[in-house]
Amino acid sequence: IKKIGILTSGGDAPGMNAAIRGVVRTALGEGLEVFGIRDGYQGLYENRIERLNRYSVSDMINRGGTFLGSARFPQFKEEATRLTAIGNLRKNEIDALVVIGGDGSYMGAMRLTEEGFPCVGIPGTIDNDVAGTDYTIGYFTALSTVVEAIDRLRDTSSSHQRISVIEVMGRHCGDLTLSAAIAGGCEFIVIPEVEFKREDLINEIKQGFAKGKKHAIVAVTEHMCDVNELAAEIEAAVKHETRATILGHIQRGGSPVPYDRILASRMGEYAVQLLLQGFGGRCVGIQNEKMVHHDIIDAIENMKRPFNQELFDTAKHLF
Ligand code: ATP
Repeated sequence: IKKIGILTSGGDAPGMNAAIRGVVRTALGEGLEVFGIRDGYQGLYENRIERLNRYSVSDMINRGGTFLGSARFPQFKEEATRLTAIGNLRKNEIDALVVIGGDGSYMGAMRLTEEGFPCVGIPGTIDNDVAGTDYTIGYFTALSTVVEAIDRLRDTSSSHQRISVIEVMGRHCGDLTLSAAIAGGCEFIVIPEVEFKREDLINEIKQGFAKGKKHAIVAVTEHMCDVNELAAEIEAAVKHETRATILGHIQRGGSPVPYDRILASRMGEYAVQLLLQGFGGRCVGIQNEKMVHHDIIDAIENMKRPFNQELFDTAKHLF
């Protein structure tokens, strides 16, 4: 291969820039040309493609977001759209494509690979919900952000003897909520992987107050319930002021923490090495601290991310 393309897709995540930098610097060092594609699959479809040089990624290692831009582009699920995209890649004489994104972006990469254009996926999302890797780029930065927010809410909850319900991102994955809840000393955790009953939650909060607790923090993964409604229900049952806070997009921004920068750099470098070795249709991961790669189709269709039950059980002993 001589020329590779790179794009970022789906929700942005801190460390995506570091991953782009890792790909660009490694590829140029190996004598390849690199083309940046704007705004994910949308820019690919619209042929917004430009050549990158080593200075395109200067001062990027520490920057949040993605300088290439990202987009949700549902039309990419249509074959005709993807064929136009492949046509654009071929017009630019690009031989392979690196896709940085979450599981939705992997679906796009899988389809392109099936249709004859080799892609390599790099997991970039704060949700940590991508198969074939222990961690995704952006997860540890988001974790720091969420824990900082919980610390702040703890100060004010404890001053006012208030109950705080905090909605954390993660789509259908509870990793961010669970880890943030442990690090933030939350009393109650509501995540998609574990069945939850409102009565049990309310009873546990009541018992906590009966034991002399002055406040309570409940961490809830998004899409589990309406947190404002849950707060009102808790307030009515426990007779303590209860407020809900939806952390929202705050969780996606900010300068990546060192771990995410290192992970992104390693994955970027590794993705280029895979392409040089002739691999296509792969996705990159880190498992037990080692770089690994899997068939992207197999990862999407057959690999399920294991839930860390042990961590959840530990959390329950800390309340
Ligand atoms: P995050 O988890 O951070 O939101 P994501 O990559 O999962 O990131 P999605 O919005 O699910 O985000 O997907 C990103 C893009 O990937 C979509 O907007 C679409 O362009 C493409 N995509 C998603 N699913 C498919 C599919 N089944 N076939 C082709 N392309 C897809």
